[in-house]
Amino acid sequence: MLHIDTELCIGCGVCEATCTFGAILVGDQGYAVVNEICTLCGSCVDACEVGALAIERPAAGDQADFSGWSGVWVYAEYRNGRVAPVAYELLGIGRQLADERQVPLSAVLMGSGLGGAAQELVAYGADRVFQVDDPALAHFTDEAYGNVLFDLIQAHHPEIVLAGATAIGRSFIPRVATLLGTGLTADCTQLAIRPEDGLLLQTRPAFGGNIMATIVCRRTRPQMSTVRPNVMKAGVRDASRRGEIVNVAPAAARVAARVKVVRSVLEDGDQVNICEAEIVIA
Ligand code: SF4
Ligand code: SF4
Repeated sequence: MLHIDTELCIGCGVCEATCTFGAILVGDQGYAVVNEICTLCGSCVDACEVGALAIERPAAGDQADFSGWSGVWVYAEYRNGRVAPVAYELLGIGRQLADERQVPLSAVLMGSGLGGAAQELVAYGADRVFQVDDPALAHFTDEAYGNVLFDLIQAHHPEIVLAGATAIGRSFIPRVATLLGTGLTADCTQLAIRPEDGLLLQTRPAFGGNIMATIVCRRTRPQMSTVRPNVMKAGVRDASRRGEIVNVAPAAARVAARVKVVRSVLEDGDQVNICEAEIVIA
């Protein structure tokens, strides 16, 4: 949490001007007050010249209470009018993990004009889809996509969050993990649940691929991983599956990115992603 030393605070308002989230305000009482949308980004801490602000995190040895964190989530990437194939692969491994933990599997779908994509995610194994269909999300930006995913995770507290190690996933998932103050294992090739304590075992190549490292996230939640495309097996499609589709309307300020996409031009080659090919003939 963000701690404000009201004895030191001189009410200068620098923190208020620094915070892009509108999470800290100087009120009539003459000192700064933080509200619940603070992301603990730390910008105001660096800006406060009298040292009145500090972020307090649990000490490394502390065992936090994670009983309020439950469920497996998949970020379902949607680009150029379709769900990325890695999303179906994530649903395949996510379904196994969720069944083992005996929790629901949810997908987060963001974009504009999403059509029947949410139902397709249900057919591939999602029990619930958070659908954020907003014109402001028509083009990917780290800021807007990161804000929306961060807000959803803060509101629902999933235990595990998986995303594809694609250009988009690699770009904004670390931002979300940083905002949440949790760990992220990138480029996983295996995921499993440790039977004795239910922790996610996240395995990835390390030291140039010479060893396989298995990483656990013991002290923070959610446990977050990006997964390489074409490594996991996609879930089996079942058009008769039923699931819940939750429409989410983010606040305008949360999807108002400072980056403005003027135009996006697809080259012919962009329609074929060789990362998704099973065989490449060179
Ligand atoms: S920048 Fe520091 S001194 Fe100024 S209002 Fe914020 S907390 Fe108080
Ligand atoms: S830590 Fe970040 S989000 Fe929280 S009040 Fe400070 S600047 Fe705003």
